[in-house]
Amino acid sequence: MFDVIKTYKECLDAGKTERECVRLATSMAEEAGYKPLEDFLNGEKGLKAGDKVYVTYNEKAMALFHMGKESLEKGMNILGAHVDSPRLDVKQNPLYESDGLAYLDTHYYGGIKKYQWVTVPLALHGVIVKKDGTKIDVVIGEKEDEPVFAVSDLLVHLSGQQLEKTAAKVIEGEKLDLIIANTPVEGEEKDAVKQNVLNILKETYDVEEADFLSAELEIVPAGKARDMGLDRSMIMAYGQDDRICAFTSLMAILDIETPDRTAVCLLVDKEEIGSCGASGMESRFFENAVAEVADLAGCKGDLALRRILANSKALSSDVNAAYDPMFPEVFEKKNSSYLSKGLVFSKFTGARGKSGSNDANAEYLAELRNVMDANDVKYQMAELGAVDIGGGGTIAYLLAKYGMEVIDSGLAILCMHATMEISSKADICEAVKGYTAFLTDIK
Ligand code: MN
Ligand code: MN
Repeated sequence: MFDVIKTYKECLDAGKTERECVRLATSMAEEAGYKPLEDFLNGEKGLKAGDKVYVTYNEKAMALFHMGKESLEKGMNILGAHVDSPRLDVKQNPLYESDGLAYLDTHYYGGIKKYQWVTVPLALHGVIVKKDGTKIDVVIGEKEDEPVFAVSDLLVHLSGQQLEKTAAKVIEGEKLDLIIANTPVEGEEKDAVKQNVLNILKETYDVEEADFLSAELEIVPAGKARDMGLDRSMIMAYGQDDRICAFTSLMAILDIETPDRTAVCLLVDKEEIGSCGASGMESRFFENAVAEVADLAGCKGDLALRRILANSKALSSDVNAAYDPMFPEVFEKKNSSYLSKGLVFSKFTGARGKSGSNDANAEYLAELRNVMDANDVKYQMAELGAVDIGGGGTIAYLLAKYGMEVIDSGLAILCMHATMEISSKADICEAVKGYTAFLTDIK
């Protein structure tokens, strides 16, 4: 247990953006014997049982396949999770100066309570791609001796009017700009602080202001994942939605022996904004990857591809809302998930009358119960909150499009989408066990 938790925290620290996560997962996969698809495309042997292959999309999405002993047409066991998390993105024309402070203008990504992002130390992660294609990796604010950044909030002494506003309006989207400097360049009259920032960027990264146009810079809470509680039973960290499921899925697939059914781990981007885009689950990235793998495995043509997908079984792994005793009014106790009570299964998600939900089949639920019990996996069955209070979606309905069996599963966390989210160490170990059982024992 100690090793898994230690590795999890290290992965959270090293993977705070979707790109960082996919890069990290790629290196972990290669260490476990996975090879890029291109290696097989260029070879002559095709794919056979025991082969391990991965496909990536622009450092943002990834699919890993551990080829099984049975024909691919009988279907695959798929663990799907997402590696993007709510954050502030830097706009394309971001840099400006106002009254002696230099700022980066931002546009938030995903569902956040904006007031949570003020007066906390923030770090800048991402890439700047210059016109000639040179890609510069940026990470500022994570090491002890590096500076951090911040979004300001109004002092309480002058907040009479602000505190009358509703929580949604206390801090508005255009007020989430990041303070990045305060020192002017000597002798400059206009925008001297901004000029100082440009000088530092030129010196450190050899970039111009225009290079922000082709940059993807993400602002995330600075600092490392921490143990939480006197008993150290929990973990407090940014981005556990959904890296906790991505990590436990990856741990499971990297550790199994050659399975009967081909095992798949799918890590996708853009879930937090609706799974759209080429790196999100709505894209054909995964389908294309399966088509390539199928072809190499000797399952040729469109019909074979359809059979493989339709005969597959999936866990759409995403976090669930842990019951919070401070807010009992939004939960229904019998059908809530709890910290440290094991892997969570949700037959359906959605809002109101299950709107937008994939509703898993009872037959599939029965098989999962059987496999989890046989492997001594602790699990709980839950919905996200009480009826008509809210709701949420995952990538489940997009996998379900192919006609495969899909169910939402994942881990319970407190304070989902907050700058710091809280998970249970016991659940992490249970999830690795449960996901392993799913990959090896589901028929
Ligand atoms: Mn999620
Ligand atoms: Mn989320």
